[in-house]
Amino acid sequence: MTRDEQPSNGPVRDDTRHVQRAWELAMENVAEGGRPFGCVVVQAESREVLAEARNQVVQTGDKSAHAEIVAIRELAAEGRDTLEDCDVYVTAYPCPMCLGALYYAAPRRLVFGATRAQEDEHYEDGNRLFRLATFYDEFAKAPEDRALRAEHVEPPDATRPFREHGARDGR
Ligand SMILES: [Zn+2]
Repeated sequence: MTRDEQPSNGPVRDDTRHVQRAWELAMENVAEGGRPFGCVVVQAESREVLAEARNQVVQTGDKSAHAEIVAIRELAAEGRDTLEDCDVYVTAYPCPMCLGALYYAAPRRLVFGATRAQEDEHYEDGNRLFRLATFYDEFAKAPEDRALRAEHVEPPDATRPFREHGARDGR
């Protein structure tokens, strides 16, 4: 490994190329009627490109088909259940859904081409429950104060699935 391919601190030599590729995927998607987001997943050591994905929300009607989610699902279908040994490149800093998915997938690094503020100048994201400008504040609120109405209705043995799961795994 050369000095400019260090695993965890600072930019990697090919970052510019991969973030540019995410940008190209976004441009291709816009040209085909889709939304302006792309994602590239790269194996952190070999620098092999493992997945390229575009936002598919318009094409499929699936609200969760953001480029990051599409990439994670494609890799899972190939048997890859973690991104811990990967770097992820995206057109813009992820929305809360993708950010959450990336926290679960736990890539080594996330590289983004545009900030949320840069995106917000030109693109309207969100719906009646939240907007780009309020995404992160919304999740910081107490559950009862959030825009998504939620009721706690407890069944007789609410925690049994968790206990059964723990017992199955010997905990
Ligand atoms: Zn997203």
